[in-house]
Amino acid sequence: MRVILLGPPGSGKGTQADLIYQNYGFPKISTGDLLRKEVEIGTDLGKMVSQEMKAGRLVSDELVLELVEKRIASEDCRRGYVLDGFPRTLNQACLLEKLEANRKETVFEFKVSEQEILRRLSGRMVCLQCGAVYNISNNRPQADGLCDFCGSKLVVREDDRPEVIKERIRLYLETIAPLIDYYSSKNVLFEINAEDITENIFRSIKAVLDRRLTEGKEH
Ligand code: AMP
Repeated sequence: MRVILLGPPGSGKGTQADLIYQNYGFPKISTGDLLRKEVEIGTDLGKMVSQEMKAGRLVSDELVLELVEKRIASEDCRRGYVLDGFPRTLNQACLLEKLEANRKETVFEFKVSEQEILRRLSGRMVCLQCGAVYNISNNRPQADGLCDFCGSKLVVREDDRPEVIKERIRLYLETIAPLIDYYSSKNVLFEINAEDITENIFRSIKAVLDRRLTEGKEH
């Protein structure tokens, strides 16, 4: 099973991807996390994408696809995986389809207002090591500034500044429509009210996934 989470920044995709992993064992593949790691280590790829990322613009389809292709070839992705932040363009969706044409897929569209996104992202901190996400107002780490899971130092993302957040939301709204049409016409798209509390959102996701997983033998 390939689970795809579509939604604007701050819509809770990362949190739900973690819950899907805990329940189904499908690892989370966040292209944003993979790219931030490349930037942090200072690889050639990281150097190529860092300016685009700081400005909240998309990096090239080919570079992102390369990272995804490498990651989904791993043994832990054999039964299934969750894509968070990929595909972002129709072209990426088509490239993904070519890469693994026969994998069953389920796509969730997270719906949330701009006002709520700005509220959530203003206090966000992330762990660059394991991708865990925290918030100073409602989801603080146990020890200040340190990840509960791996103990690494938490950081505020450079692209979580209000002016960049606005650009990222604008870009999302500009690029998402063709993707919604694409998955909707494949009958694999499910809409999620992402303004609800985490537990309720996951309950809706789980109901769909449980049904989809028993529909066919493929995973
Ligand atoms: P995210 O963590 O998903 O918000 O991604 C952070 C940044 O990484 C984005 O603003 C883009 O610059 C880049 N990025 C992540 N995923 C993609 C993608 N699928 N295509 C192009 N750029 C991406």
